[in-house]
Amino acid sequence: MIHNFNPGPAALPPAVIARAQAELADYHGTGMSILEMSHRSKEYEAINATAEAHLKALLGLGDDYRVLFMQGGASMQFALIPLNLLPAGGVAEYIVTGSWGEKAYEEAQRLGNTRLLASTAADGYRSLPDAEALTPDPQAAYLHITTNETIQGVQWPAELPELGSAPLVADMSSDFLARPFPAERFALMYAGAQKNLGPAGVTVVVIRQDLIERGRKDLPVIMRYATFAKNNSLYNTPPVFAVYMVNLVLEWIKEQGGLVAMAERNARKAAMVYEAIDSSNGFYAGHAAPEARSLMNVTFRLPSAELEKRFLSEAQAAGMVGLAGHRSVGGIRASLYNAVSPESAATLASFMREFAQRYG
Ligand code: PMP
Repeated sequence: MIHNFNPGPAALPPAVIARAQAELADYHGTGMSILEMSHRSKEYEAINATAEAHLKALLGLGDDYRVLFMQGGASMQFALIPLNLLPAGGVAEYIVTGSWGEKAYEEAQRLGNTRLLASTAADGYRSLPDAEALTPDPQAAYLHITTNETIQGVQWPAELPELGSAPLVADMSSDFLARPFPAERFALMYAGAQKNLGPAGVTVVVIRQDLIERGRKDLPVIMRYATFAKNNSLYNTPPVFAVYMVNLVLEWIKEQGGLVAMAERNARKAAMVYEAIDSSNGFYAGHAAPEARSLMNVTFRLPSAELEKRFLSEAQAAGMVGLAGHRSVGGIRASLYNAVSPESAATLASFMREFAQRYG
């Protein structure tokens, strides 16, 4: 058995893979695969509509929000957000708590006026800024945060601190639907599907209607949120198979008991791995400050690069894959997205204890 800790693309629920396999050759008696069908077919339109409805139900959002299925990854959103929502003469504020926030901020700087409201770069992106010390501009076009920094393993709490009154925009690529959160506090949230939601190829954007209407109108049609909203994400050919898979994952989340069940499962998994770090007498050094620790990406170092290499190869031999830290920071990273089973987390935690005993 393989324990899959890949950072994204990442583990999918086995039940979802099995269902996709069972439905692949003959989708609902049509005699063809969903891969071979028009995106204007009633079958695909049903998938598209159901996925939007499931997402809104899971987030507890009503008609004042739209769900858009887009392409280009979360990285495309780094550009589309300022292009659509940052008018000439306006300013967009960014809080940067890791590498992905940095990228989002850099892209916005190319496209308009920005202000770095806070950055934790100085401490190596280990912590969250002190929200009480921030002075967000209520006139800002929006304030952008990254709810979970995948590379550093730093996550904002589900109940965010007060962050002012400008529209809140969040990159939730690596913790979307991992726990209940007050979705109505956000004006726009986006996530590449390939971590918690499905395969690579589709990016989910949940956007409040007033932002759609406010969006700049002098952009190429394909780059406007309004185009996707008006056409139910069917302005051009969507990534049909990726959206189909997202819909299956959403159904799986609902069957498991929704976001409350995901939160319980994710907290349990993360606790096992952090416990292995904390009880190792310093053999494992967690990257994130304890109060900023991510439930999704557990990042840590070993005493030497040599031991990290050995850790990865022994883990691999024991069936645990995807544990190398991001190439920009090294070390170890265990990604524990929704679909990763508690058994996989338990296997990793016990391997960590045993490894520390042998080499500590
Ligand atoms: N934001 C976050 C938080 C991420 O983890 C990633 C991907 N690892 C990205 C953005 C970039 O996503 P994509 O590759 O879909 O553009």
